[in-house]
Amino acid sequence: MQRQTDSKVDAHPPTPAGYAGKVLWVDLDSGRLREEPTAKWSEWIGGRGLAAFLLAFSPTLYADEPARQPIVIAAGPLVGVGLPMGVRTAVAARNQISGGYCYSNVGGDFGTRMKMAGYDAVAVAGASASPVCLLLGDDEPRLVPADDLWGLKIPQVQEALAATHGADPLSFIGIGPAGEREVTISCLMVDRAHAAGWGGSGAIFGAKKLKAIVALGERSVPVFDKAGLRTKTSQLGWRIGASEAMAGLVRGGTHGMAGAGGYSGLVPTGVRNLQDEYLTHEASAPIREEAFRQWEGERDGCVGCSIRCLHRYHMGSERYGTIESEGMHANSVRGLASNWGVDDAQDLLMAHTLCNQYGLDVDGVSAAVAFALECADNGLLEREQPDGVRLEWGNGPSLVKLVRQIGERADLGQLLGHGAWEAARQIGGDSQSLAVTTKHVGINEQGLRSHRAWALGVMTSTRGGGHLGGSPQTENRRISAEQGQRLLDNRHAGDPGSYQGKGELAAWTEGLKCAVDSLGLCYFVYGWYDLSLGNPDELAEMLQLATGIRLSGKELHRFGLRCHTLERYLSYRLGGHTRTDDTLPDRFFDTPVSGGAYGGAQLDRQRVEKALDEYYSYLGWDVETGLPSPEALRGLELAFLLKDE
Ligand code: SF4
Repeated sequence: MQRQTDSKVDAHPPTPAGYAGKVLWVDLDSGRLREEPTAKWSEWIGGRGLAAFLLAFSPTLYADEPARQPIVIAAGPLVGVGLPMGVRTAVAARNQISGGYCYSNVGGDFGTRMKMAGYDAVAVAGASASPVCLLLGDDEPRLVPADDLWGLKIPQVQEALAATHGADPLSFIGIGPAGEREVTISCLMVDRAHAAGWGGSGAIFGAKKLKAIVALGERSVPVFDKAGLRTKTSQLGWRIGASEAMAGLVRGGTHGMAGAGGYSGLVPTGVRNLQDEYLTHEASAPIREEAFRQWEGERDGCVGCSIRCLHRYHMGSERYGTIESEGMHANSVRGLASNWGVDDAQDLLMAHTLCNQYGLDVDGVSAAVAFALECADNGLLEREQPDGVRLEWGNGPSLVKLVRQIGERADLGQLLGHGAWEAARQIGGDSQSLAVTTKHVGINEQGLRSHRAWALGVMTSTRGGGHLGGSPQTENRRISAEQGQRLLDNRHAGDPGSYQGKGELAAWTEGLKCAVDSLGLCYFVYGWYDLSLGNPDELAEMLQLATGIRLSGKELHRFGLRCHTLERYLSYRLGGHTRTDDTLPDRFFDTPVSGGAYGGAQLDRQRVEKALDEYYSYLGWDVETGLPSPEALRGLELAFLLKDE
């Protein structure tokens, strides 16, 4: 089956360099493909900003059924232009868990190959009657049947696509069996080990019967200033190589940096459904990065990345046979081990591998299973469950089975696949107090009781949960008072326990993250772990070298705040989220950390409220409602949203 392509391109301003040039609109109801010039929307820069904007103007945005809802995948102007770590792809869609908005940011090679096929973004609407794949190659894009891929797990999808199209170069974004079964906490996977999580976007692809988008492009992306870009690339290569934080990432990935205490032993970790955030060094030893080195194979990374932060572990396991585990990050270590009381490496590796194979969101799975375990402790779920699953902290084999059940939508997995919040709603009784969520999205976190700006970033996240937004690393990295003053005008930025200026810091960090995601750069490198690499002036210079677009660092950061404000507005319009949703469950306010460097730490309600006031004020949002005020919308050239009300 090959569908008709309508390649009519309207008259438009010239496409700047750095862009592939086109946005592809896909209507799966009719099979019609339509192209438009990216230049129409270049004020949205690309990646996350462009994805949010295209979603906001999709005619089916408010549809209730995921099959009818739009989903947008976009890569920024610094993807595929030769700059180090210019590789990230953004996904925007309605959040299947919260009902609000969700953006995801994912690595791998997909964005680069999509741009090399000629597209900066793909927006998909409608649903196909039978499974399909969208092929983006050097020729016309086309939809092809994918019945033979339906039911396959992610590694087998990649093998089958490689066999059909040639292994290199090929990259895809698609779903495993969990997405096909519309499991709410499923995600999109790029290649084998990169997940676009947080909002159940796998279920959207599943409802649309879209197995994958395959990017096969080989054309190079034009750049504005080739020589300047080459010089900048070389300078950045040197600085990244010399950065102490980047050396830490090279050494042990995020598993080493932040998993089970991190190198310093000071990084907290979620314990038993986040009832606590402290593990003794002895208790964390079996799941620390050092313990896994015996199984480490060649490291993996996004295209052209010298850091290669993704672990490949090869383990001969007594329990599961050979485990080939790819892409483990700190969130798996915390979410699938300490948050479940598991300390056996083979159970952790197997649970992580199953999440990748089925296309499940590790954070959502962590929160749902931990919730079930606490329910069993409180008599709200039977401890003994079908298929020999025993709901018991640390019972690795049972919990691995449970992950499989979620992916298969079988037994208790049917309930937990909805995520912790919806599972609690169905169980009833007191169970909702055990669902560790914000805006209904499961939290798999660390440092919420002890790190103030970090916690504020999680509670104000538009997608619900997750620290990769407004949570800065300044507290974990303990930047000095002088550095804080010089870089952020805040002497307390590196002090985890201080509330001073932390509302502003979280809001400022959101602006930086939105800008970095819109450019298509990896945030691990550009600003998060090492602030010196996230200088907005330098990011703006990189944008200019690639595209010729001139912005100051201040203007680029302001664009990030504009993007965040649009996302907040979408979160409100779709999910009704307001200030009252910017919070965390009671346990973070009422139950202190049990020991270690942050023993006794917990959140203080009054101080959090004050910091939230500061957060909204910095953004020009209404302090009462936590929503962008009409003045803020006008000030950020978002007045067009007011017509929508
Ligand atoms: S640091 Fe990690 S996530 Fe970032 S580009 Fe490199 S491999 Fe990808």
